[in-house]
Amino acid sequence: MLEIYKKLPGTNCGECGEAACMAFAMKVKTHQRSISDCPYVSEADSESTPVEALEKLDDMYERVSNQMEAEVTSIDFELAAAAIGGDFEVVDGEETIQLKMTSKPYQFRRQGLFEGGEPCHDSWVKMIIYDYIGRQGSKPVNADWVPFDFFPNTPSHIKAFQTSAENQLAAAFAQDPEGIKTHFTKQEGREEQGPISSDYACCLNLLPRIPLLLRFWAADSEFPASCKLFVDSSADAYLDIEFLGHLVEKFVEDTANETGAD
Ligand code: SF4
Repeated sequence: MLEIYKKLPGTNCGECGEAACMAFAMKVKTHQRSISDCPYVSEADSESTPVEALEKLDDMYERVSNQMEAEVTSIDFELAAAAIGGDFEVVDGEETIQLKMTSKPYQFRRQGLFEGGEPCHDSWVKMIIYDYIGRQGSKPVNADWVPFDFFPNTPSHIKAFQTSAENQLAAAFAQDPEGIKTHFTKQEGREEQGPISSDYACCLNLLPRIPLLLRFWAADSEFPASCKLFVDSSADAYLDIEFLGHLVEKFVEDTANETGAD
């Protein structure tokens, strides 16, 4: 979806009938809207994203994820599991690494990535997890919370995406500020207190060594509901920034789907 979102101006003007560019991008991705419904998309971009072009992109992602898989399946699983915060297990005589991404369990084997006992066919999930396993970052994770633009090479579309993701999450819980606690407790969120006061704050593991801090403020008589997202300043040692953006995108999409918001 970020591929589509990148082509939008990110101003959340609402002229397409959606509350935010991200909601619009999600509908384009699921073929409910055409990208040309945004009056601010250039003709070239509009023509370059019909379904066939998106399918070509999907093919390319699959090729890239297969290449990454070929590199990462030959590593030392036991050392890698310790480095990435996964669990090394030998299952039926086969070495595996068990790890969770956005609270969903995955199993990494010599044959690739598995989800629920079946091979994972989501190229983005595979690319993110393979990049994470391949990097084996070693920076300490210190709850030193920063926004995405803290990292020197953050692309502008990822910075813009952060604001849109925060708006989308705020909208998901604006009508049910009590529900946010129930929702993220189920997602293994740990309630946080910190120097900044907010109505709700929790820390979730996007991946074992990549925590995300979410702060939420309910609407009051002056301001609408709002949300802020932070990652640890070590995050770029564990994952490429573009993949980090896609990982947060997945988290927001999952949250929107689970809460019925779009
Ligand atoms: S997608 Fe385009 S029309 Fe819709 S909110 Fe974003 S900028 Fe405005």
